[in-house]
Amino acid sequence: MSALPFDGHAIAPETEAFLKQKHCLLIANEWVDGSGEMASKDPATGLELACFAIGGAAQIDRAVAAARAAFEGPWGRLTVAERTALMFRLARIMEAKATLLTQLDILDNGMPGFIAGLTTANCVEMVDYYAGAIMRIEGTTIAPPRHIAAATEALTYTLREPVGVAGLIVPWNVPLSTAILKLAPALAAGCTVVMKPSEETPLSVLALGQMIVDAGFPAGVVNIVNGLGADAGAALAAHPDVDKISFTGSTATGKKIVVAATGNLKKVSLELGGKSPVVVMPDADLALAVPGVALATFFLQGQNCMAGTRIFVHEAVHDALIEGLKGFVAAMKLGHGLDPASFQGPMISDAHAAKVMGYIEGAKANGATLVAGGQKLDRPGNFIEPTIFTDCTPDMAVMTDEIFGPVMAIQTFATMDLDAIAAMANATPFGLSGSVWTRDLSTAHRLVKRIRSGHVSINCHGAVGTNIPFGGFGQSGWGREFGQEGLDAYLETKAVTARL
Ligand code: NAD
Repeated sequence: MSALPFDGHAIAPETEAFLKQKHCLLIANEWVDGSGEMASKDPATGLELACFAIGGAAQIDRAVAAARAAFEGPWGRLTVAERTALMFRLARIMEAKATLLTQLDILDNGMPGFIAGLTTANCVEMVDYYAGAIMRIEGTTIAPPRHIAAATEALTYTLREPVGVAGLIVPWNVPLSTAILKLAPALAAGCTVVMKPSEETPLSVLALGQMIVDAGFPAGVVNIVNGLGADAGAALAAHPDVDKISFTGSTATGKKIVVAATGNLKKVSLELGGKSPVVVMPDADLALAVPGVALATFFLQGQNCMAGTRIFVHEAVHDALIEGLKGFVAAMKLGHGLDPASFQGPMISDAHAAKVMGYIEGAKANGATLVAGGQKLDRPGNFIEPTIFTDCTPDMAVMTDEIFGPVMAIQTFATMDLDAIAAMANATPFGLSGSVWTRDLSTAHRLVKRIRSGHVSINCHGAVGTNIPFGGFGQSGWGREFGQEGLDAYLETKAVTARL
């Protein structure tokens, strides 16, 4: 390990070597120049990490052409056994290079090391999972249509076929993970892809690109074009030769993707924002609920799509919960992700930190009671204290908007009417995640049934897993990732009838 100025923490030699490389675009297994350059920064220190090439419409055109040629050529001709073997080989390379992938996400995104390590391990598991799923892609046999069956023996069956060329557009908040969540099922389905990482966090996906080349994937199967959203991203979303866009990001950008996709009516999957409810009932086990509610909001410094940031707590346990949360956040260490003791990292950028601080100031001005935090630390990087407001009302921006920062808004309730509690929880256009905290499992399941959200947990929060479908109701998105539904998103069904 050698020391570099990441708050005095060391990085592995392979990470240091990677940062010193030239970072180009990956098109047809060649690293090529773009139309410009951007710099990537360590958000914990503000230091520049690396320059990387960016592309626009011209580079997207080249990448889409490469993906189309691979889809109609060598990739389409591989047997499922060969496709499976390539994906397992990629998983083993990722496993061997886990330190590099983990440190790049820490440096580029600012996330604490324990989260980056977890997401890298999950990404390896995800590639293995979808590699194993390839052999289980199956159609069905169905009774033939009556008018044909009346005249002759016949056979009707379905084939599952890849959608084609998929454009994958991902955000900055969990860079490798959001990329693999799309890439692994897309490749398993037999699609070829053009990936557009976030301009804030290009590095781990670029490292992954070399691993894909090293694993032996044919040229053009995976292409990576970094660039600005309004430029490369928009060109990909609107491209007439792209068959599908899978997008993860904000709801506002998701709406633009839908409009851009109308030209050729490409398929669209959307994993968008959230403002998830956390309901704490009077019989909740506070030994579980205190850390659980804190993590629901502050995990990944709140830059987490499934963050539970609207807390509805029964008045009987409000004070005890607040006391517990104050103690929990007082013990949370803010610091560089390379420091193993760090529990919370910085905001991704100056602009994002200013937005989060605006919400904090707004909540104070609007009469919410500040219980903890509320300050930006006086040090390099954009570290904002874990912040807790209580006495919040449904109309306050801290209760309605996805802040994407370490800001918890608490509202109390006195009723035990589950319909009334669910109505509070559902008073949002989003529906991504949520959790219910109670010792009464009957209450828990009845409440879960009433909450309009794609993913609800009982006595835990955000319990995502490789094989568990995840996605949103309402304006949190279209479709599901993870599990079998994640694979189905890249498959078309073809029904075939044969007169025998
Ligand atoms: P964003 O919408 O600003 O950007 C996401 C991606 O879209 C980036 O790669 C960006 O360059 C690109 N983009 C921007 N404008 C575009 C356009 N006009 N056309 C095409 N592409 C464009 O989101 P962000 O700030 O990077 O990420 C944070 C958001 O992502 C939050 O809202 C969060 O909730 C959401 N998110 C959702 C999930 C989920 O699974 N539902 C997971 C992670 C993040």
